[in-house]
Amino acid sequence: METVTHEELIAWDKAHVWHPFTPMKQYIASEPVVIRRGRGVKLEDIHGNWYYDGTSSIWLNVHGHAVPEIDAAVRAQLEQVAHTTLLGQANVSSIVLARRLVEVAPEGLSRVFYSDSGATAVEIALKMAIQFWANQGRREKRYILGFTNNYHGDTLGAVSVAPDPLFHWPFLDLLPEHPRVPYPYPYRSPYSDPERCMQASLEAVEAVLRERGHEIAAVIVEPVEGAGGIIPAPEGFLRGLRALCDRYEVLLIVDEVATGFGRTGRMFACEAEGVTPDLLCLGKGITGGYLPLAATLTTERVFEAFLGEVEERKTFFHGHSYTGNPLGCAAALASLELLKRLLPKLPAKAARLKEWLDPLAQHPFVGEVRQAGFMVGIEIVADKATKRSFPYGAEVGYVVARHARARGLLVRPIGGVMIFMPPLAASEVELEEMTAILRAAFTDALPELEALARGAVR
Ligand SMILES: *Cc1c(COP(=O)(O)O)cnc(C)c1O
Repeated sequence: METVTHEELIAWDKAHVWHPFTPMKQYIASEPVVIRRGRGVKLEDIHGNWYYDGTSSIWLNVHGHAVPEIDAAVRAQLEQVAHTTLLGQANVSSIVLARRLVEVAPEGLSRVFYSDSGATAVEIALKMAIQFWANQGRREKRYILGFTNNYHGDTLGAVSVAPDPLFHWPFLDLLPEHPRVPYPYPYRSPYSDPERCMQASLEAVEAVLRERGHEIAAVIVEPVEGAGGIIPAPEGFLRGLRALCDRYEVLLIVDEVATGFGRTGRMFACEAEGVTPDLLCLGKGITGGYLPLAATLTTERVFEAFLGEVEERKTFFHGHSYTGNPLGCAAALASLELLKRLLPKLPAKAARLKEWLDPLAQHPFVGEVRQAGFMVGIEIVADKATKRSFPYGAEVGYVVARHARARGLLVRPIGGVMIFMPPLAASEVELEEMTAILRAAFTDALPELEALARGAVR
């Protein structure tokens, strides 16, 4: 690449790059981190500062950066071909990956539809669910039951099943009105008992299905609410949903875009409850965080509803230019091999992680520390006794994130929840150092949080 000075890079970034999920006025006024290199679980900026990748580059990275096995697999694929289409033809690495995915997926999922992001994996699941019923003459089954505060991606279809009044206000009246019920969130539930909280949520699902099951195609759910603040569903929730979906003839879509590929300590979160969804959405960690690839897995039952004579128009007319990209599939195959060796080590590491995070619960502005394997959410509140949040716009998460960055850890909060998502391959020494920085950042932030809390009271 041409040589561009640091000053030019920063100026050109601010002049031309429109960053995702980023208030640009504030970004342009800030001193952004510009990454030039990654090694292991660390990233280096253009000035030569190294940071721990405490977001796993936004929940993707599994084995760290510049992993020799994955690098070699991508290089070897490049020697063959970079991209060829799956529209009416096949390519080698997408076939092998489909086979390997079916081997590790919950039993009964045997069909793989590729795409390139989590949102597209969700779009595909929604459309498959609706067309599954339409192909059988059940056109009225076209609504999707979702959960408040679950997140499924940013395309309009994905937004329609998880609209957020703060983020999506310009689009809300464009969207079909899919029914939604509360996700079990014990910390902010009238029932603080997780079991009771979960029962209330399942009862709400059943109430909708009992009344409207004939017009509902599917239920879509995250096994751990991710972007909503890292809220693990109480044990039994997926099983309960599976039973309700079966009873009311509705498909179950599980969105494991964030939780898949070891993130919760197992290959897939569904495994913990022995549940096989009708449609499983995968993305993020599928390539180890290397390349844009996603997949929607489904069963023979769903697949067979799409078979017929051409004029019956049962075909799933959906695709993306880079569907089944061989470079992505090659990276995914290499990542999966490494992950099989890493998985047995994850529970012990996650347990250590918990020990190092536990002291944060004593912090005067931490309401709750939540963890599911390598997904951590630290809920920051203005008042621990009442659980009152800081107002939207107080950006308390960023106050802590700035201190973490100064100490060498990149983290990105969502609203009032600090999210910590270390790469799964991080060693215990690295995890201990990252959590020590996080704890120190919360301490550094105390005076600012106190001032903001006083302001919040006024
Ligand atoms: C990130 C995420 C998505 C969207 O994935 P993209 O690749 O960003 O489109 C969908 N569902 C869940 C649960 C996610 O965490």
